[in-house]
Amino acid sequence: MTATVQLYIDGAWRDGHGNRTLDVVDPATGQKHGAVAVAGIEDLEDACAAAAKGFRQWRATSAYERCKLMRKAAALIRERLEDIAPLLTREQGKPMAQARQEVESSADILDWFAEEGRRVYGRIIPSRVPDVTLTVRREPVGPVAAFSPWNFPLAQAARKIGAAIGSGCSIILKGPEETPAALARIVAALGDAGIPAGVVNLVYGVPSQISGFLIPHPVIRKVSFTGSTAVGKELASLAGAHMKRVTMELGGHSPTIVFEDANLELAAKLLTGFKFRNAGQVCTSPTRILVHEKVYGAFKDNLVAHARALKVGSGFEADVDMGPLANPRRVQAMESLTQDAVDVGGAVATGGRRIGNQGNFFEPTILENVPRSARIMNDEPFGPIMMMQPFADFDAMIAEANRLPYGLAAYAYTRSASTAAKVSEAVESGMVSINHHGLGLPETPFGGVKDSGYGSEGGSEAMEAYLVSKFVTHSTVD
Ligand code: NAD
Repeated sequence: MTATVQLYIDGAWRDGHGNRTLDVVDPATGQKHGAVAVAGIEDLEDACAAAAKGFRQWRATSAYERCKLMRKAAALIRERLEDIAPLLTREQGKPMAQARQEVESSADILDWFAEEGRRVYGRIIPSRVPDVTLTVRREPVGPVAAFSPWNFPLAQAARKIGAAIGSGCSIILKGPEETPAALARIVAALGDAGIPAGVVNLVYGVPSQISGFLIPHPVIRKVSFTGSTAVGKELASLAGAHMKRVTMELGGHSPTIVFEDANLELAAKLLTGFKFRNAGQVCTSPTRILVHEKVYGAFKDNLVAHARALKVGSGFEADVDMGPLANPRRVQAMESLTQDAVDVGGAVATGGRRIGNQGNFFEPTILENVPRSARIMNDEPFGPIMMMQPFADFDAMIAEANRLPYGLAAYAYTRSASTAAKVSEAVESGMVSINHHGLGLPETPFGGVKDSGYGSEGGSEAMEAYLVSKFVTHSTVD
């Protein structure tokens, strides 16, 4: 069978060696609507050869020219928005408004990295002696193997492609097999803009086979992965064994702290919107909601009312706030995490059940008084569930916020500048957002600490990971 989504290797689309495919399923209906090509070892060898060739050409292309081509691709993506967004909703489930936003955000990310690539500066170090120049050159690290997930198939891939090619590297991206078609259109736009063959390559297949082949491959110099902590640790170990540089953007379990002086109405509204965006399948999704005991009751009522007002349905229906979960695994996880929380003494404030028997729909859910021993208080839910608990004391609240091995994002609501400063300092997290949910812009750092990974997927820090320093000392004495 011919794949509806093919591999892109050395500037050409093709089926995988052996013509194997994987089904692509609509999460709102459970119906198959396409098939993605599976890369064989021969395809991956070709991709490595293409990336090596593409790197030689691309690193020799001026940053000015690279920027022009990347910006042209971003413009093409914006022009094609209405073709790409429905593909994303069909395969991933998110409401059309969020799909459109993601297409735009991918173009925005490419634009930003295109410009940032023009500002990769070296430096001159003062010499101890005359006639000697000490220079630090910043050079692209080399061909990159990147692995991007299914929750934001376009934006997460654009971060990796943008940082890699903006700094002069070539890339082999393993895209998400469950949501392949919209990403293929983004990659097509890069080719159509004139980015040379071999600079950007896209493969799909069996994830462990692809990472097991690409990471040790001598052509690959850098690895970037977004996904679960468990898989991230495996890939980081493999990369370490082969001395490859790594960026890891992994799971989170974000504390959200509501102080007694917070604007409760604003907090409930923003938190609901952010929590249930993409059906909660967001690594920075707020999960543990710690509310000062004096305002706990009022805030809970407010939050529950907002959650109940959300419209859940197919992403193609008008005014839908939350679509289906991306795959049946997530629904099973939501059911079993909720059951476990209730079994150990937690209560369901709203939601808690799957909706219907077709597609992967689950109610926007708020649990409360869930004991720390519950699985959901330790494992990342990665779905439309948050857990509320009251606190009385700042230090005990911070201990709870920092209890888990994760440290990706944290949120706080307070009107006090000194409380905001205190919580920003005390919380162990790669990102902190106060009185709004302001994470994820291309120009700001995006990454975690502890088991949430290392490196950044945004800001100038993201470019750093794709650059190496070369020190050149030059005497001009004859
Ligand atoms: P999973 O751990 O099997 O897969 C997560 C991602 O890693 C997928 O994109 C998958 O293709 C990829 N992957 C898995 N094994 C791999 C391997 N050996 N080599 C290369 N890539 C590999 O889990 P899942 O059921 O797909 O997703 C659920 C969990 O993944 C969630 O609980 C969440 O923690 C995590 N996740 C995180 C993000 C994020 O943005 N950080 C995105 C998607 C999934």
